[in-house]
Amino acid sequence: RNSGRLSGPNLENGGLADPKNLRVKLVLLGDSGVGKSCIVLRFVRGQFDPTSKVTVGASFLSQTIALQDSTTVKFEIWDTAGQERYAALAPLYYRGAAVAVVVYDITSPESFAKAQYWVKELQKHGSPDIVMALVGNKADLHEMREVPVQDGIDYAEKNGMFFIETSAKTADNINQLFEEIAKRLPRPPSS
Ligand code: GDP
Repeated sequence: RNSGRLSGPNLENGGLADPKNLRVKLVLLGDSGVGKSCIVLRFVRGQFDPTSKVTVGASFLSQTIALQDSTTVKFEIWDTAGQERYAALAPLYYRGAAVAVVVYDITSPESFAKAQYWVKELQKHGSPDIVMALVGNKADLHEMREVPVQDGIDYAEKNGMFFIETSAKTADNINQLFEEIAKRLPRPPSS
């Protein structure tokens, strides 16, 4: 059905429980200012626009990607939209999430410490088979780097996470981040 198609939304069915067309909830976590909204806007709209904020709370952005085996994955991306502080929202936010992307800023050790806090929260409240990615963003600011790449690699490995450094500004590794997540999703059995 989708063979030969490189990208674009799957309009033929809702994708639920269809092993060829997955639909997954993805939640973003991380300190305010690490670039979560910019990563989403780069991925969904192909733009870097620090002034435009993803709308708060109720809605999410979605983007479909096609993999080489002709399956598609539709990400429904939930951004905390500045509500990082409201811990009480967390269980609702995590519910049904197949993917969690925990973001820090490579120039900010505080944001790396906060990322580790979010990973622990996910381990407590998230689904046990959630796919977790650790993302060191703002990789373009390498001259201001304060979190060594190896620290990210080591922490991710200890916690069974996929690790990548990105730049929403230059677009480095943004598509790769979502492609790698897609490859790691558990597949419903095909009939
Ligand atoms: P959020 O609070 O985590 O959603 O962070 P935002 O997406 O609002 O980004 C916070 C600020 O960081 C923005 O004003 C951007 O200018 C900046 N920013 C985001 N991503 C990058 C990046 O990859 N490189 C650089 N240099 N700046 C970034």
